[in-house]
Amino acid sequence: MKKDYSSHLETTPDAEGNFGEYGGAFLPPQLIGPMQEIHTAYLKISKSADFINELRSIRTHYQGRPTPTYHAKRLSELCGGASIYLKREDLNHTGAHKLNHCMGEGLLAKYMGKKKLIAETGAGQHGVALATAAAYFGLECEIHMGEVDMAKEHPNVIRMKLLGAKVVPVSFGLKTLKEAVDSAFQAYLVDPETSIYCIGSVVGPHPFPMMVRDFQRVVGIEAREQFQEMTGNLPDLITACIGGGSNAMGLFSAFLNDPCEIWGVEPMGRGPNPGDHAATMTYGMPGIIHGFKSYLLQDEKGEPSPVYSIASGLDYPGVGPEHSYLKDEGRIQYTSATDEECLDAFYKLSRLEGIIPALESAHAVAFAMEKAKEMGTGSILLNLSGRGDKDLDFVADTYGFGD
Ligand SMILES: *Cc1c(COP(=O)(O)O)cnc(C)c1O
Repeated sequence: MKKDYSSHLETTPDAEGNFGEYGGAFLPPQLIGPMQEIHTAYLKISKSADFINELRSIRTHYQGRPTPTYHAKRLSELCGGASIYLKREDLNHTGAHKLNHCMGEGLLAKYMGKKKLIAETGAGQHGVALATAAAYFGLECEIHMGEVDMAKEHPNVIRMKLLGAKVVPVSFGLKTLKEAVDSAFQAYLVDPETSIYCIGSVVGPHPFPMMVRDFQRVVGIEAREQFQEMTGNLPDLITACIGGGSNAMGLFSAFLNDPCEIWGVEPMGRGPNPGDHAATMTYGMPGIIHGFKSYLLQDEKGEPSPVYSIASGLDYPGVGPEHSYLKDEGRIQYTSATDEECLDAFYKLSRLEGIIPALESAHAVAFAMEKAKEMGTGSILLNLSGRGDKDLDFVADTYGFGD
């Protein structure tokens, strides 16, 4: 490997939130102050022994960490090549890696003396994880969600309400994620004193890409240690699915300075036509979205393009700025899996291992299966970011049982 990444996590991003030419904070004037406040508080609070100890205790006693690393023997045998290992983030409380950063954001809010967490949600996964954190810390929670998404993801709306969150329907524009972000920012601006905005991935203006990565690092730290304990070696290849890129950054951050290949897997949806996929790294160009610079699927005017994936947690036209930086550096490679490949992996992992994955995570499984065969030997570690309970009705009704 050409470059030394041993100090990458300490030196990147820089003080302004730049990952090379990506990241930063492109904000309306009213948001500059509140973002600065979050940044300053985070730098101070996240280093305090009280904060570190409390987060550690929450992870052990509430979230169920460490999550195991598991050798998927039957799936590996089917592929007939490299051994496939899964980091079981699906076993987190609430069923996905998102609670890793939501508990961190909730704890930061508590230390900052905030009373209310505000966020948007697309499919509802981030909303549910944040509503869980709010319930745990005794904070108010307000989740903005497009009316179209609310109808589509009704069970998550019910979960958020049961957890005590206020779900604000967003009825302008396309009534989906992009409008929900605008609505959540507006609500936050009304009262940045007592509320705090909590983002759902390694995206958004500085300091969010850094903060969310830091909270997700636990995934990679655990997995690296567990893998070495199990095999005496490091994996030859690691992989994860990429929506905004938080579960991927969580795993990848621990292996940047190791001699292993790193692959991010984006959704190719129904195919390469515009509007049929969300393969940002394959078809995007640098641009600005939601306050940061990164690769972006965009039209001629720089407006974010419509995107699609069978996995609603992956259909985002942007990607975390650190991914863009590490792609240009050549340290991480990006590829894609189609809806069809994702479904095949979804059924195979369920049948062969008794693990029903989230459709998002199944994209990484699909790539690992293909790569295992191609490699013929060695090992692959993949981040199984979530469980498939949320997808059961949709898959069974639309595609059946995979016979
Ligand atoms: C939200 C979600 C993702 C995508 O988010 P990233 O920030 O890219 O990790 C992936 N898997 C699951 C299970 C999710 O809920």
